[in-house]
Amino acid sequence: MKTFDNNRSFNEWRKNIDTNKKVGFVPTMGALHEGHISLVKKAIEENDYSVVSIFVNPTQFNNKEDFAKYPNTLEKDIKLLQSVNCDVLFLPNSNEIYPNNELKIIPFSFSGIEKIMEGEFRPNHFDGVATVVKLLFDRIKPTRAYFGEKDYQQLLIINEMVKLEKMPIEIIGMPIFRESDGLAMSSRNMRLSKEFRKEATFIYDCLLLAKKMTTTNHSIDEIKTKINKLFSNSTLNLEYFEVRENNSLKFAKEFESAEKYRAFISVYAGEIRLIDNIELF
Ligand code: AMP
Repeated sequence: MKTFDNNRSFNEWRKNIDTNKKVGFVPTMGALHEGHISLVKKAIEENDYSVVSIFVNPTQFNNKEDFAKYPNTLEKDIKLLQSVNCDVLFLPNSNEIYPNNELKIIPFSFSGIEKIMEGEFRPNHFDGVATVVKLLFDRIKPTRAYFGEKDYQQLLIINEMVKLEKMPIEIIGMPIFRESDGLAMSSRNMRLSKEFRKEATFIYDCLLLAKKMTTTNHSIDEIKTKINKLFSNSTLNLEYFEVRENNSLKFAKEFESAEKYRAFISVYAGEIRLIDNIELF
């Protein structure tokens, strides 16, 4: 695996790739787990070259402490990427992404999906995400880029961003990878105490229950009431539980047969914020 820590050396490599060759890209913030690796494997399978970036992007953190405490397991990450035969690791420092370290946000005109759920509780989060992904896409020039449905709202934002910017990049969404007890894999899981790690399985249990309730004709209101009630007896703190249309993220009041829906959840396990989602029906 080649590792480049600056734009110049990466460009040297990139410009020698034939234009007819396909480059698959997986942007990450490191602390890699099997969820990330499932994206990397897909990028390897579907393209001539695979590129993974590790960059903890300061502009997408509204919470400074969360940024400061973001786990760093670089040595292990490198070994994992080597073990699956990833071609290139791009490991820039902040200056390579944000010239002169000026953390400038690119203003995008999204459809409004940047303001709800994650956007509501993490103000400006998606401006930072879209900015860094745009800046990475400019450098990597991938044919395809892979994103996890774990961050489903982010996946839709990136789809909007490439359309707005008219970038010729195929965005591919990948299923959520889970621990054997159902907890969605996340770099943040390693910060959970033993007790909260155990309790955190409750998140997926609730999503499964919501899904089951849809198949037994319960209304959205009934599902929401039930989930909120369940959390009132948990040590986890529910931030939001929402049911939205699958493709537009429009607020859903009642289920309509022609539409697809997804439930979204955000929870605090102590200080650690965890998100998850599930397709309903
Ligand atoms: P992150 O390093 O958290 O920014 O994640 C990098 C990419 O991996 C994003 O596209 C995430 O959605 C994806 N990802 C993170 N966790 C999972 C998971 N459990 N299953 C599938 N994809 C994931």
